[in-house]
Amino acid sequence: QLPDAAADAQVRADDRGHVFHSWSAQAKIDPMPVAAGEGSTFWDYQGNAYLDFSSQLVNLNLGHQHPDLVAAIQQQAGRLATIQPIMANDVRGELARRIAEVAPGDLDKVFFTNGGADANEYAVRMARAVTGRRKVLSMYRSYHGGTAAAISLTGDPRRWANDPSDGSVAHFFGPYAYRSPFHATTEAEEAQRALEHLENLIVLEGAATVAAVIIETIVGTNGVLVPPAGYLPGVRALCDKYGIVYIADEVMVGFGRIGEWFAVNHFGVTPDLITFAKGVNSGYVPLGGVVISDRIAAHFDDVAFAGGLTYSGHPLACAAGVATFEVFERDAILERVRDLGSRIVEPALRAMAERHPSVGEVRGVGLFWAIELVRDASTREPLVPFNASGPDAAPMAELAAACKAAGLWPFTHFNRVHVAPPLVITEEELVRGLAIIDEALEVADRYVA
Ligand code: PLP
Repeated sequence: QLPDAAADAQVRADDRGHVFHSWSAQAKIDPMPVAAGEGSTFWDYQGNAYLDFSSQLVNLNLGHQHPDLVAAIQQQAGRLATIQPIMANDVRGELARRIAEVAPGDLDKVFFTNGGADANEYAVRMARAVTGRRKVLSMYRSYHGGTAAAISLTGDPRRWANDPSDGSVAHFFGPYAYRSPFHATTEAEEAQRALEHLENLIVLEGAATVAAVIIETIVGTNGVLVPPAGYLPGVRALCDKYGIVYIADEVMVGFGRIGEWFAVNHFGVTPDLITFAKGVNSGYVPLGGVVISDRIAAHFDDVAFAGGLTYSGHPLACAAGVATFEVFERDAILERVRDLGSRIVEPALRAMAERHPSVGEVRGVGLFWAIELVRDASTREPLVPFNASGPDAAPMAELAAACKAAGLWPFTHFNRVHVAPPLVITEEELVRGLAIIDEALEVADRYVA
């Protein structure tokens, strides 16, 4: 990609003049103009290349400009660019069938949305309709989306400025062995105490008022928190005991991120509803949805489902979704993710944990990992405070800058660096990217007490 100063200036001017950006103080941001992308790399207009270890927003599972996805969208656009949701459409139906085939248990129907937040909105709406109850329980360490219900379910600081606080959501602590909220010393203890905590919450909130529990199968942006063995089956059992709908939010971890179609498959649990988006078609055209169990779907056999979207099951988005299934199968993407994760990423991160005093813990599965950074390994004091910004966040900003200067686009959040590259990343790129992080961690090491 050749430098193009004029285009760079024009893109910057239009953006700064007229584009209003997400989650940002508009005068304090400087969005990077991106000229092109291919595979795991994208380029700015100055000729710099960045290896994307964040898959954009952990959605670009098949990388930039995958030829099969591009061709599928082009062909669909030439055939039938759009059709309203009440009609039956070939790619919409095929994608729904293929999703149902890889979903666990009796999750056989799909309601399509435009993304992850609205998938969670509709999952909650279904749970409320089926149970006749209103309350929903979700984790403090969670992100479920930016729209009204989804942001109130969200536990992380993005909720603070948006919380409607209408009493319909209660938050709980999930398992997090490295910073155990339950003073547990083993994973088994953590799982058991986290379940006791959840059951207490259900009982004290009034089990008969609780419609749903929503859980990211592996908590994503808030830490790549892999639940200990037994936790999710325990959640399933609690939901059965109290007649509560179990919603698995797989917006970030579904579609191959951890080497499974759905992350619940890794843990052997079957929720009542699974929400998805991002990796279903790598975000080439916005798409999300809810996979629905037969029991919940049957509730709406004779009662109308009170919800809809003009673009539900958009053919361009669904064509890219069908192509995603074809690529995953032909190129054995799930096997590839498991192999790269266990053979390359895990050993490299464990070696970094040995070498760098700033690394408190590394954890993850497949191509979804977190490096948690601390000032002091014995006290586990985070490298930067929770939700730090400005000067407080300087160590993380410097670390990110070191990665970028070396040609790597990192995913950083609070005191963590996540490793979430496209699932099609080459071995050479993966090794190179990990080496860049390894070297950049020296920036964090300087802050260790
Ligand atoms: N749920 C999870 C776990 C997510 O990570 C996200 C987005 O990052 C969402 C929901 C919201 O998805 P969207 O931004 O497509 O609305």
